Amino acid sequence: MGPVAPLAMVLVLAGGCAASSGSGAGGGGGSSGAPVRVVASTNVYGDLVRTIGGDRVTVYSIISDPAQDPHSYQASAYDRLELAKARLVVENGGGYDDFVGRLLQGAVNPSPTVIDAVRVSGRMPKAGRELNEHVWYDLPSMGRLVERIAGVLGKADPADAPRFRRNAAALQGELTALERREARVKAEHGGAAVAVTEPLPLYMTGAMGLRNVTPGDFSRAVEDGNDVSARTLERTLALFTGKRVKALVYNAQTSGPPSEKVEAAAKEHGVPEVPVNETLPRGQHYPGWMSANIAAIADALERR
Ligand SMILES: [Zn+2]
Repeated sequence: MGPVAPLAMVLVLAGGCAASSGSGAGGGGGSSGAPVRVVASTNVYGDLVRTIGGDRVTVYSIISDPAQDPHSYQASAYDRLELAKARLVVENGGGYDDFVGRLLQGAVNPSPTVIDAVRVSGRMPKAGRELNEHVWYDLPSMGRLVERIAGVLGKADPADAPRFRRNAAALQGELTALERREARVKAEHGGAAVAVTEPLPLYMTGAMGLRNVTPGDFSRAVEDGNDVSARTLERTLALFTGKRVKALVYNAQTSGPPSEKVEAAAKEHGVPEVPVNETLPRGQHYPGWMSANIAAIADALERR
């Protein structure tokens, strides 16, 4: 991974500068003009773009504060301003960050390229169910996304396209290694039952062959911020009182009485808890973050 650049460094703005074009008028020599301006809906995607683009991109991530819940984010005037200058926009899609589309609709920006991670993933909802939109917990999907980002950056800045491809290939190598680790967990613990507070980690636990036995009504209600019926809560709590799950993987970025009750039940009955997040924790990069998530889940499974 490249050196860690604080977001503030990335945000140094050339006031009023139009989005860069690859040909970079006036940018002679080997340089290819101003860096490509990119807006990502969350710092998860912002980090992937930075890793691929290095100093040839300036990235603004709309959400990077772990206290913010992307599901209910209210965009700001600053977000709109940044989007208006972007050459590339990376959004999650799937209903996760609709604020991006709304901001773009009103923008005068001459049509940035928009990459929708859910669309790139090719994931489809299971029959009669909603799509789990948390595709950044799906490593193969992120591999495809990395490829797409490198392609779009290469079009915006052709002189640096080979570098983007190299960085993308290195990143994909890391993702492939992480997929192998998921497969090893599957070989050892496949079929083990786990509970979740929200669908957030389900692509990862699925890749590990773990069975999510949480009542669907519970995790959907928690994610949507709706009330959980007494009966559903009772069925969910029984997973812990009866020690029917080997771990609880919970969303550390949202809270509320139902998930707090479930977390308390896990503690009380000695069921290992694994926190997961919607956005990239400060000071981390995507592969290291996912590596830590895999390790934490594997560790919880070892404990019982
Ligand atoms: Zn979520």
